[in-house]
Amino acid sequence: SSQNSGYDLSFKVLLIGDSAVGKSSLILSFISNSVQDIAPTIGVDFKIKLLTVGGKRLKLTIWDTAGQERFRTLTSSYYRGAQGIILVYDVTRRDTFTNLSEVWSKEVELYSSNQDCAKVLVGNKVDRDSERVVSREEGLALAEELGCLFFECSAKTRENVDQIFEELALKIMEVP
Ligand code: GDP
Repeated sequence: SSQNSGYDLSFKVLLIGDSAVGKSSLILSFISNSVQDIAPTIGVDFKIKLLTVGGKRLKLTIWDTAGQERFRTLTSSYYRGAQGIILVYDVTRRDTFTNLSEVWSKEVELYSSNQDCAKVLVGNKVDRDSERVVSREEGLALAEELGCLFFECSAKTRENVDQIFEELALKIMEVP
């Protein structure tokens, strides 16, 4: 029963986006509430986080591409059954933003079987503000175009990190 398992609902959440935008760092920042340098690993990996949002105890299974995106080998199995997708770019690298609109969002459309999948667009590394090349306004405009929630964040300082996952969970629960 849900009483014994410790949660009411279970969701699969994916992170996608170019290499080195900070996907693994965001997951670890959210999971461990601490800052760390991540050594790259190859192969799909996932982490589990229990949290309470909107009065519900949730189990989030958070999938990381763990470097596979470098080889463009993400397949339908990675996307299968996902209720939430976090699309990540690096505000200091324009190519990572362009690739989200031109490559990753197309792949999401192609592979995510769940039409009602909740999505969040995330601009990471806002702590490096002097190196920023993608404005907040551009991020907002793309989020609107893709039908995503939008956050700018820093996996390093943890600014907005909890909010990304909590708002995504709330959006997933709104989906009929
Ligand atoms: P992934 O390939 O998308 O999983 O990216 P990683 O999580 O491996 O991060 C790539 C690099 O960016 C690492 O050196 C991280 O320490 C660094 N990084 C990740 N997030 C941030 C952030 O918010 N701010 C800064 N300054 N560096 C970050």
